[in-house]
Amino acid sequence: MLRSHKNFRFKNFSAPRKINNKNFMIPVNEPIIAKNAIEYVTDCLKTGWVSSAGKYISLFEEKFAQFLGVKYATTTTSGTTALQLAFLSLGIGVGDEVILPTLTMIACPYSIIYTGAKPVVVDSENDTGNIDVDLIEAKITKRTKAIMVVHLYGHPVDMDKVIRVAKKHNLYVVEDAAEAHGATYKGQKVGSLGDVGCFSFYGNKIVTTGEGGMVVTNNKDIIDRGKQLKDLAHSPSRRFLHEEIGYNFRMTNMQAALGLAQLEKIDKFLETKKEMAYLYNKSLSGIKGLTLPVEKEYAKNVYWMYSIMVEKEFGLTRDELMLRLKEKGVDTRSYFIPVHKQPALTKRGLFVNEVYPVAEELSEKGLYLPSGLAITNKQIEEVCTKVKDILNEN
Ligand SMILES: *Cc1c(COP(=O)(O)O)cnc(C)c1O
Repeated sequence: MLRSHKNFRFKNFSAPRKINNKNFMIPVNEPIIAKNAIEYVTDCLKTGWVSSAGKYISLFEEKFAQFLGVKYATTTTSGTTALQLAFLSLGIGVGDEVILPTLTMIACPYSIIYTGAKPVVVDSENDTGNIDVDLIEAKITKRTKAIMVVHLYGHPVDMDKVIRVAKKHNLYVVEDAAEAHGATYKGQKVGSLGDVGCFSFYGNKIVTTGEGGMVVTNNKDIIDRGKQLKDLAHSPSRRFLHEEIGYNFRMTNMQAALGLAQLEKIDKFLETKKEMAYLYNKSLSGIKGLTLPVEKEYAKNVYWMYSIMVEKEFGLTRDELMLRLKEKGVDTRSYFIPVHKQPALTKRGLFVNEVYPVAEELSEKGLYLPSGLAITNKQIEEVCTKVKDILNEN
């Protein structure tokens, strides 16, 4: 059984849509809300601990740190603010450069730009879509302060190589593990390998708080700095005295209560993801023109999203396949648009004439199939059958 546990299935996220008045769209993502969440969130409401103080904040932070095997964790309002807080806590700002993959979500370059620093992008490796670690060193300048890696769609980056380059050039490593809760690199959880790890708890992530994020580290100075900056930068010596500009990135107790309940279920959630990938792999392997996701020997992929590549031999483009699937009641999403192609950034004079062929190609042929925690074996089967039907109709 894919899902034997009797958790609530929440329908308000990318909700199933009625088509033809009888069928329902298989959503690209539908979360499962743990039973305990109702009790924990209700406890916040009943006791009045609805804001950013309260026991669930510290419980969630403690348990999350424990889960990852790190010393410290602090909650934030989103994955985006977690990244921003990470860079601020490392003292990164105007005049600095941060290296990141171009094939990633826009929150990554934004978080660098918010600090005043400059994003410098690197192409992808072909199979995982992750940053091509062999191309990082060529991008390092005197201004480089950090390398940000993103464990894309749940597959860990080859961290040893990143850490080696970072050590050699005295750079920080920031891991964006927003899509990879529980994924491991050589047995170690991602987010715990660099100087700072960042997580998102948005509704479609493996652990959710509705909206929310977390910064984790083994470094006491970094976490202390983060806690101060995320809470308006009160002076340690005198509350309401502010010697520098701070931020309000505080999570609420209610969000942490939801997060704690979800975190209690993470082993089951990861099992569900693994089985989902197994079933998709089994059914889709051997289809000419579809490239399925990989799992490198050093990694445990958590398949946040089950992503496939639509190659020329498939006979339809990625966009055509997405459209045909939609007509048949299957919702999908295309890959991210590379950072160096984003008008919001190129308008600022960034990435002029820069070309990253691997990321550009992946971005054009990649899509992900319904992959939410609430997906059933039957739905997976249905999706695969429809892919095959489309191929036969062609
Ligand atoms: C979701 C995500 C974020 C941003 O998280 P939010 O909680 O939505 O702000 C950052 N990076 C990656 C790779 C993500 O997938």
